[in-house]
Amino acid sequence: MRTSLTTSAGCFLLVSMFMGAAGAQTSAPSLPYKDANLPVEERVSDLLSRMTVQERAAMLSGSGWMESQPNARLGIPAIKMADGPMGVRSWAGSSASTNTSAAKGLATSFPAGIAMAATWNVDLVEKQARAIAQQTRALGRDMILAPTININRTPLWGRNFEGYGEDPWLTSRLGVAYIRGVQSEKVIPSVKHFAANNQEFERHRIDEKIDERTLHEIYFPAFKAAVQEAGVWSVMSAYNKVNGAWAAENPMLLTETLQKQWGFKGFVISDWGSTYSTAPTVNAGMNLEMPGGEPMRTWLARPESQKNGNDGGQLVAEKVLAAVADGKLQQQAIDDSVRRILRVMFTAGLFDTTHPGGGPVDTTEQRAVAREAATQSVVLLKNKRSVLPLDSKKIRSLAVIGPSAAIARTGGGGSSLVRPLYAVSALDGIKEAAGAGLRVDYALGVSMQGEDPSAETPAERARLRDEAVALARRADAAIIVVGNSFKLESEGFDRPSMDLPAGQDELIEAIAAVNKKTVVVLIAGSPVTMTKWIGRVPAILQAWYGGQEAGHAIGDIAFGVQNPSGKLPVTFPKQLADSPSHGFYPGENLHTTYEEGIYVGYRGFDKRSVEPLFPFGYGLSYTRFDYTSLSVAPAKVAADGTIKVSLRVRNRGTRAGAEIVQLYVRDVKSSVDRPVKELKGFRRVVLAPGESRDVSFSLDKQALSFYSTANHNWVAEPGQFEVWIGASSRDIRLKGAFELLQ
Ligand code: BGC
Repeated sequence: MRTSLTTSAGCFLLVSMFMGAAGAQTSAPSLPYKDANLPVEERVSDLLSRMTVQERAAMLSGSGWMESQPNARLGIPAIKMADGPMGVRSWAGSSASTNTSAAKGLATSFPAGIAMAATWNVDLVEKQARAIAQQTRALGRDMILAPTININRTPLWGRNFEGYGEDPWLTSRLGVAYIRGVQSEKVIPSVKHFAANNQEFERHRIDEKIDERTLHEIYFPAFKAAVQEAGVWSVMSAYNKVNGAWAAENPMLLTETLQKQWGFKGFVISDWGSTYSTAPTVNAGMNLEMPGGEPMRTWLARPESQKNGNDGGQLVAEKVLAAVADGKLQQQAIDDSVRRILRVMFTAGLFDTTHPGGGPVDTTEQRAVAREAATQSVVLLKNKRSVLPLDSKKIRSLAVIGPSAAIARTGGGGSSLVRPLYAVSALDGIKEAAGAGLRVDYALGVSMQGEDPSAETPAERARLRDEAVALARRADAAIIVVGNSFKLESEGFDRPSMDLPAGQDELIEAIAAVNKKTVVVLIAGSPVTMTKWIGRVPAILQAWYGGQEAGHAIGDIAFGVQNPSGKLPVTFPKQLADSPSHGFYPGENLHTTYEEGIYVGYRGFDKRSVEPLFPFGYGLSYTRFDYTSLSVAPAKVAADGTIKVSLRVRNRGTRAGAEIVQLYVRDVKSSVDRPVKELKGFRRVVLAPGESRDVSFSLDKQALSFYSTANHNWVAEPGQFEVWIGASSRDIRLKGAFELLQ
């Protein structure tokens, strides 16, 4: 059963399905707003009418680092928040506090968003989100600052690992699933960061010029789906400016798009330290400023905050009331913000049930979700001579090498980094899957850049490499686990290049030269340059940041206990210069123009006919799948009709496996320039050896539309369309066509 703030064509419809559910009061409450049996809107109006002007103004800013303002007189609780999206992060302070090695384990570390996206598994994302929400409540919090649904525009963005990749359709489906999972547990999500937070470089000051069509086709769809399909309760505004105005005081984003066009009825929360004014911010539709109170003052006083361009403390009661006195702000705007916050609090049950905390965290079931997700996220990029899976009966010794082998690198850096109670390293997972009969030896090979300066001298680096080479030469196979660390790939800064950290390319080359069965496992949230060694290693696995169970996933896949089924949610370019945003990122003098427009990710590679290293949607399996029997009907469809697409997929190998079938739509002729093809459907199909299954999709007008800047709306032009069914965006197996009638 779902509870959502949903909208229909501008009119507000509140769906509240948990009236009288557990926690509702049984004895008659003294005041209407305390009565859980009354409709939410009635309770909101009643409570608002009892609040003084001062009390209302006070609700617009936080009381602490992760708490909104409580009101003891009226019994309004604080909303207690915690960071997501990969699990519950400590709410005690900024990410700097979780990044220290002294930080204690708190909650399950799930795979990063990009890894979840590689599963293309909507149900699994919902399951993960539900588990995270359960832990949020068990830890006594009400709100999880997640999911991140910003689009991967450049391979260098420090937060690529948090989001769901480069495609708006895939990101929309997964964002909706995450929000549904969280809200089904009556925990408040905060989908972030609205809008176009696509780079960390100067994220507090950068002014991004993005044309209307690009916003609507690339950067908005996942937010729109969050509002209209998931009925999301809260949206977090971004740090950056969009077309000249800060995201937190941007009428185009918040008033016109979010509220008016999409009918959003929840509240907008600021990103931490991203407000620069009082009246313009409230008037634009930014409802709750965070952080607040003393933690905010101390944090903003830090030289780093000043250097970065953080600002805040603009919506404190005194400033809000002063703006009213000056005539810059109407009481109505303040009331609208308070209404929105209260509406969500009532809907989430914050007045009816307390979330005292307690209850299990990191249960066996939750760990199982983390493991299943990590396993499904791994993408087999290359497998020459079927080097993988390794067979522990055929090899007698295995060398496990690399700076990410013995250390479990569960996530990227910044506010999303969860400290787990335990984490399985790749080395441990490999040993477990290899079994007792196989000898597994380990060598560091190279120290992770920046972690141990004494290991980064030329002499020490040569010694470490030689040691690993000697080990690999003696072994029947070698697995090298390399990639980034949370200090090198993180919120707060972008990566300087796509290259692997210092010494890792050289290590791979040296190992591959002495061992023919060399497998490279990449632990990274974004593509890395592989040109130096890709031709010399037979097998590559992309394992992302897989959370606390990643080691098990890697071990199981390396030894064939599990069959890899992940596919890339982002194009892997051969080199950075091939990325469509290259040359238009990161901007100059605090300005950047998204010149590539709608041609982000595979849309850009297709447009310019650039061959990627590995295309969007790509991933191998230990089995093979056949695609047959495509049917697209009807051949001519009315403008308000639906097109049914079906096909058959067969596992023609001897192992069970899962295939991710992708549906792309191509507009054959259009009055505007359109991408060669666009993803409009996908399905993960699990098949036993020899098994076949029919897969079907339905497409409506929206799937055929582009955003028309002439109409300021979506338009599907009559004419020929093609349906392309692919095992990746560049491996199209079946094609069909239909005509859209006038
Ligand atoms: C991040 C947000 C996060 C917030 C609170 C900000 O720096 O951009 O994603 O939720 O901090 O930690």
